[in-house]
Amino acid sequence: MAKILIIEDNEQNLYLATFILKTGGHEVLEAKDGAEGIAVAASENPDLILLDIQLPVMDGYAVATALRANENLRETPIIAVTSYAMAGDRERSLEAGCDGHIEKPINPETFLSEVTEFLEQPTATQGD
Ligand code: MN
Repeated sequence: MAKILIIEDNEQNLYLATFILKTGGHEVLEAKDGAEGIAVAASENPDLILLDIQLPVMDGYAVATALRANENLRETPIIAVTSYAMAGDRERSLEAGCDGHIEKPINPETFLSEVTEFLEQPTATQGD
């Protein structure tokens, strides 16, 4: 069981992602904007962070950069979740510090395995 933080402003996506991950036996923490997500990540130290890129006020790229600035969250897998299917956005999320990408709409049949794949592989391949 992992502790997973979902930063997502869309109620339906948040509900669906939470439901799937809880059904899969994981503990889920929810945040509806970047500032809340950064605060929860700092206090709860989750095992993995799912990050919506399209967020109000502070977009997911800025949130990823802020999360990586926290010493305790340097190694935490951050997975961008976005409806943008373009390669440029994927690159931009990687540059901002994300480890990978899951596309919206969330596919209930594959979402759990897509997420847990990032829990299983070590992410410490990037040099400091
Ligand atoms: Mn959104």
